Amino acid sequence: MRYTPAEWDGEIDVNAYRAAFEFGADGRYALEVEVEGPCPACHHPSVDGHPLFRLDGFGPGGRGSAAHRAYLAELDELLHEGELEEVTVHEADLLCKCEEPHEGQPGAGSGCGASWSLTVEVPR
Ligand SMILES: [Zn+2]
Ligand SMILES: [Zn+2]
Repeated sequence: MRYTPAEWDGEIDVNAYRAAFEFGADGRYALEVEVEGPCPACHHPSVDGHPLFRLDGFGPGGRGSAAHRAYLAELDELLHEGELEEVTVHEADLLCKCEEPHEGQPGAGSGCGASWSLTVEVPR
């Protein structure tokens, strides 16, 4: 078994991807992006996402966790206070999260190690 995290440098069909955004409580600011589409390396379906902003010294936690919800709430507050500037374009760094074990993919849900980037437009 081979498991080599590597940046994908081949072609990516941007039309194969869908981006969904999570907004704050009042729907004003987009806080997080989730991108669904095939891994360009192994072609399996993959969904990955992350907050649109990074805060120094404050980890976003695992998605779905209480720490993660607190992180998003903090982003929303900072945006409302003007401490963070809204983004209109976001460079999404994605990691393969395919769930089928296969050569190069060590177990369910862990992906094949490929990473790639897509530029997404943030709705406002
Ligand atoms: Zn795969
Ligand atoms: Zn993959």
